[in-house]
Amino acid sequence: MKRFGPLDRDVPAIGQGTWQMGRDDRAAALTALRRGIELGMTHIDTAEMYTGSEELVAEVIAGRRDEVFLVSKVLPQNASRRGTIAACEQSLRRLRTSRLDVYLLHWRGNQPLEETVAAFEQLERDGKIAAWGVSNFDADDLEELRALARPGRPVCNQVLYHLEERGIEHAVLPWCETHGAALVGYSPFGSGRFPSPRSPGGKTLATIAAAHGATPRQVALAFLTRHPSLFTIPKASSPDHAAENAAAANLELTASDLSQIESAFPLGKPPRTLPTL
Ligand code: NAP
Repeated sequence: MKRFGPLDRDVPAIGQGTWQMGRDDRAAALTALRRGIELGMTHIDTAEMYTGSEELVAEVIAGRRDEVFLVSKVLPQNASRRGTIAACEQSLRRLRTSRLDVYLLHWRGNQPLEETVAAFEQLERDGKIAAWGVSNFDADDLEELRALARPGRPVCNQVLYHLEERGIEHAVLPWCETHGAALVGYSPFGSGRFPSPRSPGGKTLATIAAAHGATPRQVALAFLTRHPSLFTIPKASSPDHAAENAAAANLELTASDLSQIESAFPLGKPPRTLPTL
């Protein structure tokens, strides 16, 4: 558990994504999310874009809303002043709750940022959201946003971050750390393209994992949450996968582990544009 940006709230470093969940086996998805919560992965990430996900999460959090840190997102095309408020109210209805812990702009679109920020502030005043943040914002977008937002907002930026895509470490992560925002990494397993055990990187992960009695994916999650500002939201629709991911919270990598991972999955050059999925 660690402080989530400027919020007076402890949030687990490893949470749960829900994109494309429950499409094949809804019962398994419900069990996976519930097991994840029981094992401490109480940060639940959803979005109006993830068809069926908010309804699935509603079922999972029914009767235990206070145990979870609930995040949803508005689509950029809906992010006008009135559109954002309407989208949030619809998400709350689908989630069968009266409030979100954080509401995000899913990515920057054509609506003026001032309008989205005004709507977020209204939603905060009305108690429908506790705080707001953004997703897929590059450092220059964040800087533009900072000029429009009050201190302490945005509380987070949710961006693509996995071992083979560390681009955000160049400018986005430093921006978040300077301004006290949490950085939530999405697709920590490359959205299903995790390094093969036969690849050089996969072998490095396996060696480190064996030394800790852990798994390569647990090593990856521990690396991706190695700073106080870093959070991650793997998606697991299998209950066993959820349990494996939750247990990564107990894994502490050594300085030597970290430097081996840095060499096996090099940072690369600063990206011209922010990497997204
Ligand atoms: P991901 O978490 O990188 O990978 C999910 C894949 O990894 C699934 O196939 C899952 O299988 C598998 N997996 C999970 N845990 C595993 C384990 N312990 N062992 C083996 N396989 C395991 O992919 P993601 O869904 O793209 O990203 C995670 C979340 O980030 C999303 O669900 C969403 O909430 C968020 N996201 C946000 C954005 C954005 O624009 N803000 C974009 C993309 C994603 P099973 O499902 O079969 O368990």
